Amino acid sequence: MDFHDNEQEAAFRKVVSAFLDSEFPQELANRPEEWGLFNGAGRLGHTFRDFMKAWNEKLNARGWAAPAWPREYGGAGLSVKEQFILSEEFAWRRAPRPGGIGHGWAGPTIMMYGTPEQKAEYLPKILSGEHFWCQLFSEPGAGSDLASLQTRAVRDGDDYVINGQKIWTSGGHAADMGILLARTNPDAPKHRGISYFLFNMKLPGVTVRPLLNMLSSHEFNETFFEDVRVPAKQLLGEENRGWYVGTTTLDFERSGIATSVAHQLIAQDIAAFARDSDVGRGSLARNPGLRAELADRAIEAQVESLICYRIISMQERGEIPNKESSIAKLYSSELDVRLAVTGMHVAGLWGQLSSHDEARVLDGRLPRFYMHSTTSPIGGGTSEIQRNIIATRGLGMPRA
Ligand SMILES: Cc1cc2nc3c(=O)[nH]c(=O)nc-3n(C[C@H](O)[C@H](O)[C@H](O)COP(=O)(O)OP(=O)(O)OC[C@H]3O[C@@H](n4cnc5c(N)ncnc54)[C@H](O)[C@@H]3O)c2cc1C
Repeated sequence: MDFHDNEQEAAFRKVVSAFLDSEFPQELANRPEEWGLFNGAGRLGHTFRDFMKAWNEKLNARGWAAPAWPREYGGAGLSVKEQFILSEEFAWRRAPRPGGIGHGWAGPTIMMYGTPEQKAEYLPKILSGEHFWCQLFSEPGAGSDLASLQTRAVRDGDDYVINGQKIWTSGGHAADMGILLARTNPDAPKHRGISYFLFNMKLPGVTVRPLLNMLSSHEFNETFFEDVRVPAKQLLGEENRGWYVGTTTLDFERSGIATSVAHQLIAQDIAAFARDSDVGRGSLARNPGLRAELADRAIEAQVESLICYRIISMQERGEIPNKESSIAKLYSSELDVRLAVTGMHVAGLWGQLSSHDEARVLDGRLPRFYMHSTTSPIGGGTSEIQRNIIATRGLGMPRA
């Protein structure tokens, strides 16, 4: 892999950088509650939501709201490396990018399996920000083993009637639409009886109940369906083939570079705090091992970026990362936890003070980062599942 930009890539980097210089308000770059966590509607305050709406419009005008999407669907048609550069530059400036389920999952899957009507109806509304999407996959008895899901969809005339329950629906309370997996054939082998729906969250019979996390923050929900009638035209792909639709993702933006850069920035911030503040210097004096711990985090954040480069170079060659994506997810989410713990070791008891406390350190970012980091090794496939994939597909180990 050549780590340097060629002439065209260097020119594109300058364009992105100039755009951020002129358009991105620096006071937003250090929003305490956004430390390294760019997406997630539930976490954003109202002012920030207003900013994101205007920001989305600016990015959409350049095709940068969904740079991985082909031009015909309103994307920028950028090369894999250009998408990488865009993500990297935004991340170094701590500038948020639109994203989430609509841009990353629903849109690309509709492009691949949608009818012309479905594409015309939904893709422009994802890009414009008119529709916010959620993911209705997990159930109380089906998480890692998602194919065991029990929510039923029964064909009745021109509709399907949905009954059942989903859980951990991030942003479900704010969502207009959801991608829903439901069982249409209970007698078939479990992967073959599932269908994929483009689901309107405002339909009668849908109840969304908040689940507060340990930050007392309303990010995810339980979603209940009671005789919800969904028009059959909302089926995406073929009936009973939904598992294969669900495992599709065309999102080539997932190099992970944004998270890797965010981790490098956090490691730098914690190191600066240890070096420059009385609290940090006190911690270093009491615990000389902290120097080595900080050095390890800085090295790990660099290693993470090399894993991202590996993925991007595979994608540039037209290869589809498989075990490599699991390596990246595992490494990144576990580094999230280690960084948060190191931050707490440096800040000591001050690390518990939030952005509302006068005596806060590091802008009060640590408590949120620390508590939120615990979710990283769970969401999007747990660390154990990633290790299983690396062991079987990567190392050729037997399944049991
Ligand atoms: C912040 C966050 C946001 C989320 N948002 C959404 C969302 O928007 N929509 C949605 O549908 N879901 C969402 N989820 C749910 C997420 O996909 C599931 O939590 C995840 O798939 C794990 O499923 P589970 O919680 O049922 O745990 P389980 O699958 O029950 O796992 C419990 C434990 O057993 C381990 N385990 C399970 N199977 C194996 C195995 N085969 N080998 C070894 N160990 C195993 C797991 O690693 C874990 O430690 C979210 C989760 C989080 C944390």
